[in-house]
Amino acid sequence: MAKILVVEDNALNIKLFCDLLTAHGHETEPVTDSRDALEAARAFHPDLVITDIQLPHLTGIELMQQLRADEQLRDVPIMAVTAYAAAGDDERFRAAGAQAYVSKPISVMRFAETVDQLLEGGRLVEGSSQDSH
Ligand code: MN
Repeated sequence: MAKILVVEDNALNIKLFCDLLTAHGHETEPVTDSRDALEAARAFHPDLVITDIQLPHLTGIELMQQLRADEQLRDVPIMAVTAYAAAGDDERFRAAGAQAYVSKPISVMRFAETVDQLLEGGRLVEGSSQDSH
């Protein structure tokens, strides 16, 4: 069991992600307003942060940069979730601090596998997060 902070502005998606994680035995902390995410992370002490990229106010990229700049949170693995992955985004997300990303609409299996790999501290195979859908 792990503590997973989930940052996603879409109500259906955040419910789906949290339900999936809960079904896998994890404890989740949902955050729908990215402006609350850093403070929530500091209070929750997550083992993993899952963040949407397309967020109002503070984008997922900005949030990842904040997490990476935080003394307490800089080593927490981050999984990005995005509906708009384009060529070069993988590099951009990694540069901002994500260890992996999953495309939306998510593949439930890919989502769960990526979470497991990040919690185990394993390195993802290059390109393994590229789903076709
Ligand atoms: Mn969004």
